[in-house]
Amino acid sequence: MDAPAAFTDAEFYQRSFDPQEYLREFCSLSNAQGQPNTLLTQSLRSLSKMFSLDGLSGHTLIDVGCGPTIYQLLSACERFQEIISLDYTDRNRWELEKWLKNEPGAFDWSPVVKYVCELEGDREKWAEKEEKLRKKVKQVLKCDVTKANPTAPVSLPPADCIVSTLCLEAALATFRSALRNISTLVKPGGHLVMVTVLQETFYAFNKQVFSCLYLERSMVEEAVEGAGFDVKLSEVQPYLPGDARTDCRAVLNLMARRRASTTA
Ligand code: SAH
Repeated sequence: MDAPAAFTDAEFYQRSFDPQEYLREFCSLSNAQGQPNTLLTQSLRSLSKMFSLDGLSGHTLIDVGCGPTIYQLLSACERFQEIISLDYTDRNRWELEKWLKNEPGAFDWSPVVKYVCELEGDREKWAEKEEKLRKKVKQVLKCDVTKANPTAPVSLPPADCIVSTLCLEAALATFRSALRNISTLVKPGGHLVMVTVLQETFYAFNKQVFSCLYLERSMVEEAVEGAGFDVKLSEVQPYLPGDARTDCRAVLNLMARRRASTTA
């Protein structure tokens, strides 16, 4: 496999991250052999749970490192009026926009949307949810979480909540500073929702290896606290070995609230 020489940086993503292959590999409910994609269904379940917590609602939600995916927004879109999606690579943003504009060749999210609607109590509402989400995503912008203002030259007003799934650990050696940078995207008192893989050193698809920062739960919690948030919920779900695509051993679902003072 074509492994990156050093830690996977944003430019490697720009060159080598193929959105359609990623979607095929990680965003179908089952793989070519018919085995269920538990990484995805576990995340959908925990996102559904987190986005039904009291207080986790508001006007604006920012999705940081959205990739070409929308699964992370399916429960969230019921609690926020407007969504802004951010990612570094052009191809990921185009792929996402293709689905948002309902263009031919866009990824078929309907099985995943149906799954989430079923979790929420009515599988039949899937088309309605797709339409709602398409309307709510107002902007898809470039961002670089290694920059103090991740969306520079654009400055976004601070949002009520940021969500980030499988991004920071995939992207960076500088997990802590990335968290501090993205904390500026959310209001004091606003929320952070994260899905992070633990004890993972790589994930792979399409013959490309993306190295990850090896994280333990305490490291993530400390980094989140250090970036000025109070952790409100932190749950580890074990991930069974035997998945050739990744050596991840657990998934951490975390919800935190940004402290009022920014002395962190
Ligand atoms: N959130 C999606 C995608 C995760 S893949 C999901 O849950 O499936 C990791 C994403 O991080 C990729 O889309 C990649 O483009 C993005 N990324 C990598 N480095 C980044 C950086 N420096 N700034 C912003 N996004 C970055």
